[in-house]
Amino acid sequence: MAASVYDAKQERKTIGVFLEQASGVLEGVSLELLSRGRQLADQAGWSLTGLLLGHAVEHLAREAMAHGADEVVLAEHPLLETFTVEACAHTAFQAIVEGKPSVFLLGATPNGRDLAGRLAVRLRTGLNADCTDLRLIPETGVLVSEVSGFGGGVLALIEMRNHRPQLATVRPGVFRPGQADPGRQGRVIRSPVNLTEAMIHTRVVQRTVGRMADLTKARVLVVGGRGIEGHFDMLRELADLIGGDVGATRPPVDEGHIERERQIGQTGVVCRPKVAIVCGVSGAFHFIVGVQEADVIIAINSDSEAPIFDFSDYCVVGDALHVVRDLIRVLRDVREASYA
Ligand SMILES: Cc1cc2nc3c(=O)[nH]c(=O)nc-3n(C[C@H](O)[C@H](O)[C@H](O)COP(=O)(O)OP(=O)(O)OC[C@H]3O[C@@H](n4cnc5c(N)ncnc54)[C@H](O)[C@@H]3O)c2cc1C
Repeated sequence: MAASVYDAKQERKTIGVFLEQASGVLEGVSLELLSRGRQLADQAGWSLTGLLLGHAVEHLAREAMAHGADEVVLAEHPLLETFTVEACAHTAFQAIVEGKPSVFLLGATPNGRDLAGRLAVRLRTGLNADCTDLRLIPETGVLVSEVSGFGGGVLALIEMRNHRPQLATVRPGVFRPGQADPGRQGRVIRSPVNLTEAMIHTRVVQRTVGRMADLTKARVLVVGGRGIEGHFDMLRELADLIGGDVGATRPPVDEGHIERERQIGQTGVVCRPKVAIVCGVSGAFHFIVGVQEADVIIAINSDSEAPIFDFSDYCVVGDALHVVRDLIRVLRDVREASYA
């Protein structure tokens, strides 16, 4: 592989985090990366640097500092107001070459993934995509990225010895965001931006924000697998009664019973609810990685040998549709009795 634009001898001992934002609001994954980045930086005695691109977004630099950044490189320009990958790749590339961070982390969001690929090519470095954990060896400064491969059958630990920055994307929900400390101070470093309209070949004509479900924020989840045979109406009713949201395994999503944004697992979202009620789900590894951080898992499966029971705190052997129907009835009765 060709040498990277800068190498390990020229690097600065700092962990860079791309502070992804939209309409002046930081993406949750940016706060999660700041939290993990802070832990790694403290272990190694390094600094933590945010990279913030946008227009009139300086307030977000303060927010990033409250969440652990020592400094924020701020690149503001009207052409950065709405994310376009060309403008962001050009500006981020310049800031990274200037700052030479040893590590640079991005969220594996649609825009983060798009940007990370372009940065890897421009910087001639590698990209550890969709990491499930990150560690830093303090003695060598080498980032160890955990990535699942071969359909989840293998967990690979990837190290980048010479190429810099050590570039990685992490899916939303993998790390927990830390508590903000509004008293934390840091430095804002303004980065010059030399963008012209001619450099950007995409034009944002209209920005429509869809009402997509965000299961990463759900405190209670009712999850349906193939075993519920598409009866998500019943799961929605249960979820409404207990103030939860509805998720799914991949088969019902592939069969069109529920929206893809509700798929939990390796190729879906990673969730950390307080409670997950998992109905008619076998417990394949690809699914488990998306729900194993739940505080309590309650599984309902007709097969007493189903692997999901190995990961569950409460195991109900039975027909999930019957159990859910009974639960709905009992909850309604309790509710009506409390109104009487
Ligand atoms: C690269 C790759 C990525 C993947 N990513 C994901 C992912 O992100 N998310 C994901 O979910 N999957 C993913 N998969 C698929 C995954 O491997 C499993 O096939 C999938 O999770 C199985 O879904 P399931 O448990 O709903 O269905 P099944 O494995 O078919 O299990 C159905 C379960 O329902 C039970 N059941 C049947 N009827 C009833 C009933 N009436 N009441 C109670 N229980 C009943 C059965 O006993 C069984 O345990 C991926 C696969 C690959 C190869």
